[in-house]
Amino acid sequence: MTTRNPNFYHLLLHIDQDLAEQTRAQRCRCGGVLHSARYPRKPRGLPDETRSCFDFRYSFCCADCRCRTTPFSVRFLGRRVYAAAIMVVVSATRDSAGTAAAMRQLDTLGVPPSTIARWRRWWTTDFVSTPFWTLGQAMFVPPVVTAQMPASLLERFVSTPTPEPLLCLLRWLSPLTSGSAVSTLSEGR
Ligand SMILES: [Zn+2]
Repeated sequence: MTTRNPNFYHLLLHIDQDLAEQTRAQRCRCGGVLHSARYPRKPRGLPDETRSCFDFRYSFCCADCRCRTTPFSVRFLGRRVYAAAIMVVVSATRDSAGTAAAMRQLDTLGVPPSTIARWRRWWTTDFVSTPFWTLGQAMFVPPVVTAQMPASLLERFVSTPTPEPLLCLLRWLSPLTSGSAVSTLSEGR
C-alpha cells in the first residue's frame, strides 16, 4: 500500500519543496520579497519515520505588505489533521468496497468512522460544488461518477503514464490547497 511506503512521503515533500520554490520566485502580488513563514503541522495516520516530512506546511510572508502566500501542496489538503494522501485513500477505499485486506489496512490507520463520513460528504457535495471541479471535470473521459467520489476520480488517473495514480491525483488537486480555497477546505476536517 502506497500510504505505508516512506519513500512515497519523501517524494511528496520534494514536490512541495519545488512548489514552494516556484512560489517564492514569483514573489508577492505587490512585488515584494517573500520570507519563509511555515505553519507547524502534526498530521495523523503517517508511518513514524515520515513524521519529519510532514511537520510543517510551506508558507511565506511578504517583506513589504506582510500578506501571506501559501503555495500549492501535495502533502496537505486544507487544514485537515490527516495528510492528503491518507484522506484520499481512505475515502476511495471505503467508497469502492475494497478487499478485506485493504479494509484491514485502513483500520490500522485509525481514522474514526465519523471523520470518514465527513470526508465522504465533502467529496460528494462540497468538492463537486467548487469552481475548481466545475472546470476540471471536463478533462475526464469517461466522466467521473460524482456519487463515487473520490474512488471514481482516482480511477481516472490509473491510465496516466506515471506509475502512481495517487501521486498524480494529489498533484492535480494541489491548486485547491492554496489561498482562498483553504477556507472552504477547512470544513470537514
Ligand atoms: Zn506583498
